[in-house]
Amino acid sequence: MSSIKRRSFISTFASSLVGLGLANNLKAEGKIPAPSQSQSTALKIKKYNDLGKTGLKVPDVSCGAISLFEPNVLRYAYECGVTYFDTAESYLRMKGEAYVGQGLKGIRDKVVITTKHGYNFRQKIDKASILERVEASLKRLQSDYIDVCMIHSIDDLSPALNNQEVMSAYDQLKKEGKIRFTGFSTHNAKLTLKQALETDFAQVVLFMYNHMEGQGIEPLIKALREKGIGTVAMKIFAGGMQGHLKSLVGKDVSYPQAAIRWVMSNSDIDTCIPTLSSYSHVEEYVAASGQGLNRADLKLIASYQQQADNLYCRVSCRECLSSCPNNVAVNDVLRYAMYFENFRREKEAIGYYDEMEPERKPLGCADCPAYCEKACPYGLEVRNRLLHSHEILTA
Ligand code: SF4
Ligand code: SF4
Repeated sequence: MSSIKRRSFISTFASSLVGLGLANNLKAEGKIPAPSQSQSTALKIKKYNDLGKTGLKVPDVSCGAISLFEPNVLRYAYECGVTYFDTAESYLRMKGEAYVGQGLKGIRDKVVITTKHGYNFRQKIDKASILERVEASLKRLQSDYIDVCMIHSIDDLSPALNNQEVMSAYDQLKKEGKIRFTGFSTHNAKLTLKQALETDFAQVVLFMYNHMEGQGIEPLIKALREKGIGTVAMKIFAGGMQGHLKSLVGKDVSYPQAAIRWVMSNSDIDTCIPTLSSYSHVEEYVAASGQGLNRADLKLIASYQQQADNLYCRVSCRECLSSCPNNVAVNDVLRYAMYFENFRREKEAIGYYDEMEPERKPLGCADCPAYCEKACPYGLEVRNRLLHSHEILTA
């Protein structure tokens, strides 16, 4: 089906849902009725891949359960063939896992769930607290086991691998059958994907990959694939600025679909996890499943890149970090601002910023000649962006 035809199908399908009052019923009744024959055959995941050598099958388009307000959206995604759900202890300020548990109740054995726990490796971590946190996650997920349990958002894998308490906790959880596979998520793929190749702990890895960053890590992704490590791509919409880039509005091609197809055109990626926080997200993103990248996609992506080039902080680039005399975590601060402004995860973004050590915040930027700007290869107005970020994140 051509992109234009698919777009009109999506609108027709969405209108038919509205016409039937289906979406409203789903919300009101707290359940998802079985899809009709036409729905179940038309709006379906078309392709499933092996998740590394885990033996698990995952759809090419999966679910990032990050900013979820309606658990039935997950059930709807499942009805459309989405069987991989990614959450974390910290999402939705500790409520994300409970939404996933609620949304997937009764179909636990038919889906794959990943959750993640973050650690401050500069502080003492004890095994008992990890076991407790994973038990609490299981309770929220309403499950006896976690398919993939990841260490959340690490820039360097070494402190985790060298921490006996952490490794011993994950070993025990695996032996007890509470965790099936381990791995990590990262915004520093250049280092951590290399490290992943050296350890059996990394069975599945979640990393940023989109058309504006990540191309430099493609040989590493290939090496992960060859070693049998599951590869999951996140932040696939390159900052999620499509709502602000005027020339993308009203096109016949959907930017998110184009971005999904771009990511999944790399055959070394097992799945990607766009955030599915509404019924329309499910419909739009699932429709991109199994589709090859086409010329219209590339045109749209080129337009996005051109407009976002000096606006989008490539979080994994880190080029400016060593130029800052104050050791400001430029990419993390701009990432939290991205969560706030583009992903509409305001409270969570403020929470993350609040937890950041004060010395990593841009508190001295106003009086600095902005060395970071000279170091940024993409011409971002880094200092102004940091000052603005601090303002919104402390509001
Ligand atoms: S403006 Fe100066 S202090 Fe602020 S991040 Fe850039 S180099 Fe560092
Ligand atoms: S501000 Fe520029 S140099 Fe710094 S991390 Fe972002 S894109 Fe890279």
